[in-house]
Amino acid sequence: MIAAVWRGGKISLEELPNPVIKKEDEVIIKVLASGICGTDLHVFSGKAQGKDGVIRGHEFSGRVVEIGKDVKGIKVGDLVAVDPNITCGHCYFCKRGEINLCENLIALGVDINGGFAEYCVVPYKQLYVFSEKISPIEGAMMEPVACALHGIERLNVGPGDTVLIVGGGALGLVLLQLAKLSGASKVFLVEKVEWKRKIAKDLGADIVIDPLKENVEEIVKENTYGRGADVGIEAVGKTETVKTVLGSVRRGGKVLIFGVSSPEDLLSISPYDIYFRELTIMGSFVNPFTNSRALSLIEEGMIDVKKIVSHRFSIEKIDEAIKVGLSGDALRVIINF
Ligand SMILES: [Zn+2]
Ligand SMILES: [Zn+2]
Repeated sequence: MIAAVWRGGKISLEELPNPVIKKEDEVIIKVLASGICGTDLHVFSGKAQGKDGVIRGHEFSGRVVEIGKDVKGIKVGDLVAVDPNITCGHCYFCKRGEINLCENLIALGVDINGGFAEYCVVPYKQLYVFSEKISPIEGAMMEPVACALHGIERLNVGPGDTVLIVGGGALGLVLLQLAKLSGASKVFLVEKVEWKRKIAKDLGADIVIDPLKENVEEIVKENTYGRGADVGIEAVGKTETVKTVLGSVRRGGKVLIFGVSSPEDLLSISPYDIYFRELTIMGSFVNPFTNSRALSLIEEGMIDVKKIVSHRFSIEKIDEAIKVGLSGDALRVIINF
């Protein structure tokens, strides 16, 4: 099979033997769609480390072609979306239900072979069956939508909340839709690329802001009786945009760091400001127990993921796909088979 392997600091297209079932709880899927995540782009551009010799791709769907003897509830021919995060079930965090913080977490497409290949072996408990009424590309979006859902649940966004989202990339646009679904009365979306702001409008953003031409803090305050937003989400991964969010939330506001910044980035922050304004600052990491509901939202048309897939490429053109992803002029870029 053809596969895109991270090897020697670059993506290498290789002809590899098809994977085989080694444990009886495993399933082989024929990959149909596999998204290029921002975290993949960090690796491809040298901003983050990637494990050498691993087939990347952790946002994928496919069709089951073979199952081990101990597999339950999944049959050959099923369309499935993959939760790439494999947890141990026995560490301190797993036993407390905080499975995303598992000490032994390994992820398909990060630590072990993933979805930028024609076939992939996956433990069956990582799979979510979906119907033919959605496409494999929509199925592949389960994982990123599940990450955004975890973020929204961390913030406990509720009816009547005003929400600021800085960053109108694929995930910013999913966060926007989830905020609206949760009852947010006003969502501000900050994005410097005009066509992405237009999609944000189509997807329900109440006020879109161009940070290159407009003052985000001022606009948010003007539209919240001078207070600032109840909730602010940073979905870019830059210290500058974290500052924008901190400056735009109200007293008692909640701030979510959702974007993935570089591990070296540092932010100077006023402890007095956090104290006096009683701010809550939190992170959100992957997608514990949110995949099933994310898939349901996609299947029932509650979340539109079609609008946030901007490009599709065959695996042979993965270099071009990565280039488009890194250009900033794309939303989700999908490898389809
Ligand atoms: Zn991802
Ligand atoms: Zn664990």
